[in-house]
Amino acid sequence: MTPMETELSKLGLKCGLEIHQQLDTRHKLFCNCRPQLSKHKPVMGVSRNIRAVAGELGKVDVAALHETLKGMEFHYDVFPEETCLVELDEEPPHEVNKEALEVALKVAILLNCEIPDELHVMRKAVIDGSNTTGFQRTVIVGMDGHVETLSGRVRIANVALEEESCQIINKGRHTVTYGLDRLGIPLVEIGTHPDIYTPEQAREVAEKLGMILRSTGKVKRGLGTIRQDLNVSIRGGSRVEIKGFQDLRVMHKIIENEARRQKELIGKGKKVEEEVRKAEGDGTTSFLRPLPGSARLYPETDVPPIPLDAQYVESLGEALPEAWEERISRYQKDYSLNKEIATSLVKSNMGDMFEDLAKTGMEAGLIATTLTSGLTQIKREGAPVEKLEKRHLKDVFRLLKEGKIAREALLPLLKMVSENPGEKIDNLIKKLGIESLSIDGLRLLVREIIGSNKALLGRPNPEKALMGLVMKEVRGRINGETVMKVLREEIEAS
Ligand SMILES: [Zn+2]
Repeated sequence: MTPMETELSKLGLKCGLEIHQQLDTRHKLFCNCRPQLSKHKPVMGVSRNIRAVAGELGKVDVAALHETLKGMEFHYDVFPEETCLVELDEEPPHEVNKEALEVALKVAILLNCEIPDELHVMRKAVIDGSNTTGFQRTVIVGMDGHVETLSGRVRIANVALEEESCQIINKGRHTVTYGLDRLGIPLVEIGTHPDIYTPEQAREVAEKLGMILRSTGKVKRGLGTIRQDLNVSIRGGSRVEIKGFQDLRVMHKIIENEARRQKELIGKGKKVEEEVRKAEGDGTTSFLRPLPGSARLYPETDVPPIPLDAQYVESLGEALPEAWEERISRYQKDYSLNKEIATSLVKSNMGDMFEDLAKTGMEAGLIATTLTSGLTQIKREGAPVEKLEKRHLKDVFRLLKEGKIAREALLPLLKMVSENPGEKIDNLIKKLGIESLSIDGLRLLVREIIGSNKALLGRPNPEKALMGLVMKEVRGRINGETVMKVLREEIEAS
């Protein structure tokens, strides 16, 4: 333990983690709209107000009251492809999206959860206007699971399938503008019990849950598609929820700062309030709102319960994606990759591509480094690597295997292909001037260069200087080892 961790553990630090991950499905959760942020301008807008009213138990939710007191007015931007009457709350929700449900169930199974026989869609009160209904629909698909960490087991309280809220477009003093395009994108929410005792363990859990989610192959990538919330408390303090950080690197700081904040309040004899705080980019937090009451869930009466057939759940259990850790060790064993490269392949979702290319009989290590650091390198040079398809990579490796291009030409060619994905690869090779050089061609060139640099032959190690001159002419067309071999033979002969 680091000194900081020892200090935190003396304070009785406890954390829970909540992860929200957007799914990459064909439709939204309760309608057939496209689950994506619109690339177009809104076609119309709708304005609404939300009032807090007493719930069935006659109590007004403290968080709801807090929002109402602010007297906000909400504007909603409507997008034709991404919005229908369901997002506007003018039409009841449709049946739950089966594709999304399947992903959520697989995640729950991977997290060792118990799966209920029947699923119930519930409403969770949301009063900041980010849902037009005033609630978020959520379906708990698994409970009482766990995930193992280096410092012990962390229990998973539940896994839920939820609808994403609207995105804030603009926030004024009394009005907020939201985009309806994001509303209803399927989300998987994973909540742990407060079994996390150090910032390092929190990072490990977050990473593990992220890997499990991505292993389904059905999650969105990129900024804003995964969000983490933290619950932090110390002995004598209170549970404080910290929302909205996307970068795992600031998590350490957030936890440390919150523990320290609670310690200071306790030291001054003040009460630590249960509240929701917002994570700032620098690891500090600021007050957002009181912690909502616990009676926020009530049944969604517009969607009937969903019975889960035991056989169906069993079939999902049999079709689980290979856990990332297993895949990484399989790559180390079967392809003799080192752990770093194997991990990088799996994390970048290149595993299937790699295995496919390895079937061509090309050296696995070369394929792996090309797909990871190689592509990163040409991307940094401005190549649109996302345009590279499997067939492109297959072509390039085939040419290499057949000796038609040299190893050195691999990355320049891939770069060229990504910039001209529709062009015939033979034409690109000609354009680049990297058609493989034959040994005879090389020999002629070497003789020519030796001939016009005879003076170099008198020096010690003439091959060093000559090698540079030859490589300048042939780089990318034949490999360096062959050049050196032919060069040595020709120096000997002259
Ligand atoms: Zn819709």
